[in-house]
Order: sequence, then C-alpha cells, then structure tokens
Amino acid sequence: TRIRPSSKRCAVIGGSGFLGRHLVEKLLDKGYTVSVFDIRHSYELPGVTFHQGDLCDKQALLTALQDVSLVFHCASPAPASDDKALFQRVNILGTQTVLQACTEAGVQKVVLTSSASVVFEGTDIKDGREDLPYAKKPIDYYTETKIEQEKLVLKACDKEKGLLTVAIRPHGIFGPRDPQLVPILVDTARRGKMKFIIGDGCNLVDFTFVENVVHGHILAAESLRPESPICGKAYHITNDEPVRF
Ligand code: NAD
Repeated sequence: TRIRPSSKRCAVIGGSGFLGRHLVEKLLDKGYTVSVFDIRHSYELPGVTFHQGDLCDKQALLTALQDVSLVFHCASPAPASDDKALFQRVNILGTQTVLQACTEAGVQKVVLTSSASVVFEGTDIKDGREDLPYAKKPIDYYTETKIEQEKLVLKACDKEKGLLTVAIRPHGIFGPRDPQLVPILVDTARRGKMKFIIGDGCNLVDFTFVENVVHGHILAAESLRPESPICGKAYHITNDEPVRF
C-alpha cells in the first residue's frame, strides 16, 4: 500500500523521557518525521523538532501537532512521586487536553503508553490477559490515574470522527539510559538494603527491554486502521520470559 506522506508525520509527547527518546530514535530510523512535545528538552537529535511545553496547555499542543497524523503519548510524572494532585492534573486532565488537541488538529491515531499495573490488585498475576478487570483498589495514585487515563484514551476511539486509539501496557522497562529501575536496584544493593527475601525467593516480575516496548508501540501504530480489531483496545507487552526476582 502507498503511504501518504502525512501518515509518517508523528509527535511523541514525553519524547524527552527514557522510553520516549528510544521511540523517537526508532521512528527516525524508520523514516518518520518526528516532533517531540515535553516539559523538558533533554537532548538534541538531527531531524527532530522539539516543542517544550506542558501537555495541559492545549494551545502549546496545537502548535506541536500541526500536520501530525500519529501521536504517541508516553508522558507521565515519575511513578515514585506521592503527589496526587500532580498525577490527576497530568495523567487525567492532561490526557483529556491531549485528546481534545488531537481532535482539533486532525490527528488520526493515538498510541498511549499505559501500564500493566492497571490490572494489579496487590496479588500475584501469572499469564495475565487483557480481559482482566481494572484494579478496583489501585496500589497508588500513579496507577489510579493510569487507569483513568487509559479509559479516556480508549473511549476516544471513534471511527466516524476519524480518531483511532490503542494502549500498550508494559510492566517494568529496562535498557540503555534507564534512569530508574536498574540504577535504583544497584544503589539499594550497594547500600546493603537488599539482604532480605520477600516470599520464597521464587517471585517473578515482568520486565521488558525498552526496544521491545518501542517495537510494540510502532506495530500498534502501524496496525491501527478503521477495520483493525485493535481499535480502542489495550495490550499487555512483555519479553518472552519473565525475570526471576
Ligand atoms: P520518564 O520519566 O523517563 O519520561 C516521562 C516524560 O514525560 C519526561 O520526559 C517528562 O518530562 C515528561 N512529562 C512529565 N510531565 C509532563 C507534562 N506535564 N507535560 C509534558 N511532558 C511531561 O518515564 P518513562 O519511564 O519513559 O515512562 C514513559 C511512559 O511509560 C509513562 O507513561 C509511564 O507511565 C509508562 N511506563 C513506564 C514504565 C517503566 O518501567 N519505565 C513501566 C510501565 C509504564
């Protein structure tokens, strides 16, 4: 099939972050024209246009989304924060603003980075599928607002209006430039604070290599068409094997 030039114009909201930057680099490799929208401007890359702004600011978003047909939304406050108001503002109100801006700018596809924690109630899940219900008692404000965010994005999928949406749910992400997961583990171990075992030592935790997460996002974006069964759905994403933890 012939690809219309505009269908390769995309924006990565949260493109200055760990996952976002990997996504940007892969999209460039694949011949996409990429704009980054982020509250911070953390690197330079030839071929990328940076728009610094808060995703709660619709005007700023509209400038960044001009002529863009595909949006990846992977911005979020850091999960470790305990700032309920910040999570609500960015993940809920901000996502509503992103969706409004996408509609006004004529964006055709939105791929959201959600999280596998949206189905986690604090008890073990093995081989969990997407038909698990959302957690009724989310473990923290981050998760509570990731659930609302995912619902908003999936509900916005509207073939008549020409906006198609999908959500990708990774659990822990690791890989080059990871600012959180491995550095925090290493630091905790160095401080001698990992000398205990929770449970019987056979717990499994799901981590996905960042390039696999990126691959999942791009596959979702490229499969998102009006006739596609993925429209308005969420997908867990993982490597082949969980990591023994
Ligand atoms: P990150 O903190 O490295 O990147 C998030 C980016 O969002 C940052 O660059 C930040 O500046 C930007 N941002 C935050 N608030 C903003 C605002 N108001 N306006 C504009 N930009 C804003 O985090 P990450 O690990 O790359 O996570 C990306 C996405 O993946 C998030 O949605 C997160 O919930 C999800 N996720 C991450 C993991 C993980 O293990 N890292 C696991 C599951 C889901």
